[in-house]
Amino acid sequence: MTTTTSNRTKFWQSQDAEHHLHPFTNHGQLRKKGVRMITGAKGIYITDSEGKQMLDGMAGLWCAQLGYGNEELVEAAATAMRELSYYNLFFMTSTPYATELAAKIAEKTPGDISQVHFACSGSEAVDTAYKLVKYYWNMKGQPKRKHFVARVGAYHGSTTVAASLSGLSGMHPQFDLPLEGIHHVGPTPHWYANGQGLSEEEFTDVCVKAVEDKFLELGPENVAVFLGEPVMGAGGMMPPPKGYWAKIEALCRKYGILLWADEVICGWGRTGKWFGSEYYGFQPDIMTMAKGMSSGYQPISAVALGGDIADAIASNDEEMAHGFTYAGHPVAAAVALKNIEIMERDGLVGDAAQDRIDYFQSQIRTLEDHPLIGQVRGLGFLGGLQMVADKETRKAFDSEVDIGYRCRENCFNNGLVMRAVGDSMVLSPPLIITKEQIDELVTKARYALDLTAKEVG
Ligand code: PLP
Repeated sequence: MTTTTSNRTKFWQSQDAEHHLHPFTNHGQLRKKGVRMITGAKGIYITDSEGKQMLDGMAGLWCAQLGYGNEELVEAAATAMRELSYYNLFFMTSTPYATELAAKIAEKTPGDISQVHFACSGSEAVDTAYKLVKYYWNMKGQPKRKHFVARVGAYHGSTTVAASLSGLSGMHPQFDLPLEGIHHVGPTPHWYANGQGLSEEEFTDVCVKAVEDKFLELGPENVAVFLGEPVMGAGGMMPPPKGYWAKIEALCRKYGILLWADEVICGWGRTGKWFGSEYYGFQPDIMTMAKGMSSGYQPISAVALGGDIADAIASNDEEMAHGFTYAGHPVAAAVALKNIEIMERDGLVGDAAQDRIDYFQSQIRTLEDHPLIGQVRGLGFLGGLQMVADKETRKAFDSEVDIGYRCRENCFNNGLVMRAVGDSMVLSPPLIITKEQIDELVTKARYALDLTAKEVG
């Protein structure tokens, strides 16, 4: 570390402390400890202002499918910016980038998804889908269908609607949420934590029955939509128990309730398929997507619609009074198109990626023998390491131990980014990760777990 880099870091830290409010951050703690400045990134590694390199096991925030500094994406952005730095999609206009991207999304999504509306972030897509669901039922002459059923433990974003739909209780009281008409059903479909004493299939039935009970309590004719992430992500990387989505899909069809898959994390290759709904074999009416669509190089998101909601909105002869200035921005759409083209060309999704996915899954499972680890779960390039105080009884750590925070810091300090969600360490590396880099990731994760075990042992 040179004096210059150190001084530079200190300067940024004091500037940041003076002026910058961060997302999902305890500002009191941040100001005491000083922010970590990330100044560069290439491939699957990020570098901080002290020159320290870290393997990014989280692909940023589950988004950098192609890793960092991909020259083809840089070129696509520069070309689009030169050609058409901005234009909007309002009032009967489009751009080739937005139009081609809409068609590409319709092509890659499962089943009969056919209509695409753009936004700039996952939360905006979620807000948009919420409004489109209301619009649809009003248009269909069923305005009583106003109830939205989501799940305890879900994360759907941070705007007023998206935070309301999120089932993380910490997100609600500070902001007087959730909004009326939004319901969260428990238990969270996380077998390891909530299904003790039950087979996986029995636990599936418990979860599905809880959803049906909620529909019946509200009156199914008053329920607009059921909403879920195919794999619950930001709430702790929790894949559903066996058969869950097929049964949820059947339930929604039984009562004529729309099914909305929030694919903001699961979409665009994260599960090894293009979409999480494809992985689990169910057909949503509504999909929300963002993150991996542009590998995070540009802020762009989309709502994709199929079935009757798509037809009804697309053929309605009145103005749909909704939209954002930057939605489907030409530069963002150009980058997303190139990003998808590269994923297709380089075999980063589907059969061509399976060998590396299998390796990732088998290697992270070697951590299951670690004294801190109660369960390793995952699919595709998603992994979750559940830390427990007692492996036999699955006893959780006391919250004062702050086991996740400790482990995250030990990762950071030893060259690995792994995110802590409660007592789970979460992995979502770039889809370009090689087998050698998977070995490096697992070695570093084990080392950080060893250090954490020593601290609490
Ligand atoms: N939906 C899901 C499933 C997410 O995981 C996220 C973010 O992590 C969002 C929505 C919100 O996306 P954004 O942070 O881009 O608003």
